[in-house]
Amino acid sequence: MYYPDEVVEEVRASNDIVDVISRYVKLTKKGSSYFGLCPFHSEKTGSFSVSREKQMYYCFGCGAGGNVITFLMEYENATFPEALKTLADRVGIRLPERAATKEEREAADLKSALLEVNKEAARYFYYQLKAKQ
Ligand code: ZN
Repeated sequence: MYYPDEVVEEVRASNDIVDVISRYVKLTKKGSSYFGLCPFHSEKTGSFSVSREKQMYYCFGCGAGGNVITFLMEYENATFPEALKTLADRVGIRLPERAATKEEREAADLKSALLEVNKEAARYFYYQLKAKQ
């Protein structure tokens, strides 16, 4: 099942990461981040941090990290579409029911290929800009 980037982004942005993770991990606010015991490795002191500002989580103990969607995938051992569905249901967003057409998938593939090409070009130009000659 393929979902357009806009849909994925809407679901991600509508589910605050602190609210979602709080349902699974007891979080305590420390400074601008929230900390708790990491659900991905066994520990006695909380090195699992969640940032509301960045909408990301990161564990200083085991290096697990990601956004609200990857958290659910890791925690529930869910696939990307399953995690997306759970989060969409949570905030009442209706995901498109039908699968993407061949054309839509091809357009999406082309778009990501073009993005890659641009990234490579940007890297090249950046390198040239910084190089001595
Ligand atoms: Zn960890």
